[in-house]
Amino acid sequence: MKRSVQREAILDELRSMTSHPTAEELYNRLLVTMPNLSIATVYRNLEQFSQAGLVLKLDCGGELKRFDGNVNIHPHLRCSTCGAVSDMENSKLDKLQDELIKLLPELECRRLNLEFCGVCPECQITNQKEVTV
Ligand SMILES: [Zn+2]
Ligand SMILES: [Zn+2]
Repeated sequence: MKRSVQREAILDELRSMTSHPTAEELYNRLLVTMPNLSIATVYRNLEQFSQAGLVLKLDCGGELKRFDGNVNIHPHLRCSTCGAVSDMENSKLDKLQDELIKLLPELECRRLNLEFCGVCPECQITNQKEVTV
């Protein structure tokens, strides 16, 4: 398979996901349609994409890097229990984010790291079950 085809497939797959996958998670999904793909290719392309501004690399202190195909400025919610990273649909937060960006009109803002860390709804339910059982 041609390199450029692999590149496009990696980018397309990442953009179709909202789970902010790690390189390994993305690789495992791509293997279904591209059994000859190597993890090194996925790593290399993801680094190139993030340097080119095509994808976001979410660095989380010492943990696995996660990637985001959505490069628009948007807040994230990180679960401290399961490690999942999700996007938030919250119009008030969107407004607040716009206000924050306007505070620095001299800057052509490309990126704003707004990340909330807590326990996601799924883990809250699991925790409650564990307490009651
Ligand atoms: Zn969770
Ligand atoms: Zn995101």
